[in-house]
Amino acid sequence: MAKVEIDEGSGFCFGVVTAIRKAEEELAKGGTLYCLGDIVHNSREVERLKAMGLITVNHEEFRRLHDTKVLLRAHGEPPETYQTAKRNNIEIIDATCPVVLRLQKKIKQEYTLESNEEKQIVIYGKNGHAEVLGLVGQTTGKAIVIEKLEEARLLDFSKSIRLYSQTTKSLDEFQKIVAYIKEHISPEVTFEYYDTICRQVANRIPNIRKFASSHDLIFFVSGKKSSNGKILFNECRKVNPNSHLIDSAQEIDNRLLAGAESIGICGATSTPKWLMEEISEAIKSRI
Ligand code: SF4
Repeated sequence: MAKVEIDEGSGFCFGVVTAIRKAEEELAKGGTLYCLGDIVHNSREVERLKAMGLITVNHEEFRRLHDTKVLLRAHGEPPETYQTAKRNNIEIIDATCPVVLRLQKKIKQEYTLESNEEKQIVIYGKNGHAEVLGLVGQTTGKAIVIEKLEEARLLDFSKSIRLYSQTTKSLDEFQKIVAYIKEHISPEVTFEYYDTICRQVANRIPNIRKFASSHDLIFFVSGKKSSNGKILFNECRKVNPNSHLIDSAQEIDNRLLAGAESIGICGATSTPKWLMEEISEAIKSRI
């Protein structure tokens, strides 16, 4: 019978663990608790918390709330969200990850710093991603977001640049962007960069590569919206082309199981352990 193994190093990072713990603690007290956006990029975990009473709202719905409690997830929020909460008498349960909070403060400090230099604050990240919106919000919308190296070519190299990264982006691509800017920036201006990539993701790469290469078949469990999920899944695929991204046991194609002698299950920082265990049990029952 094929061996099925769950990767010990996969599962929630401390930022997500804290956000979920805070939600559970608040829900246990009773009363209504809203969450601004999905608490984690994993629909099954969102459903589990919904069954416990957590109500997910989007920003438009949030602006219409009054006199209630709202949890802010690990990704963080722009200052505008806190202003709305104050205006509408909303108690904020702030589960912004400390790593994101530090990055927000750093960007805000740079933005508000008195200086004669004309600077471009650049964030390497995904346009529209909740964390990036929170970061751009620290600069009243002035920061420039670049998603990949090609977009760095559009920067104005005659003006100073301060470069930051969304916490879950690829370290490799960040370093390429740094090298490109260094090569093209005018000697008359300054370039400073801050590697603000969270090691909860980057440090998992060597481990996940080792895990993926030690199995015939890999099921990578992650919500399709998770950016760290995409990075870690790509790493699995690089070392093991027989790697498949799934969100639930229903997505497993039984034909893949035939002939595999060792099957590995791993996931993102937003993947609950219980879900990987559920998938492991489903696989065992089918082989
Ligand atoms: S990946 Fe890092 S920054 Fe993002 S929530 Fe987890 S610990 Fe925080």
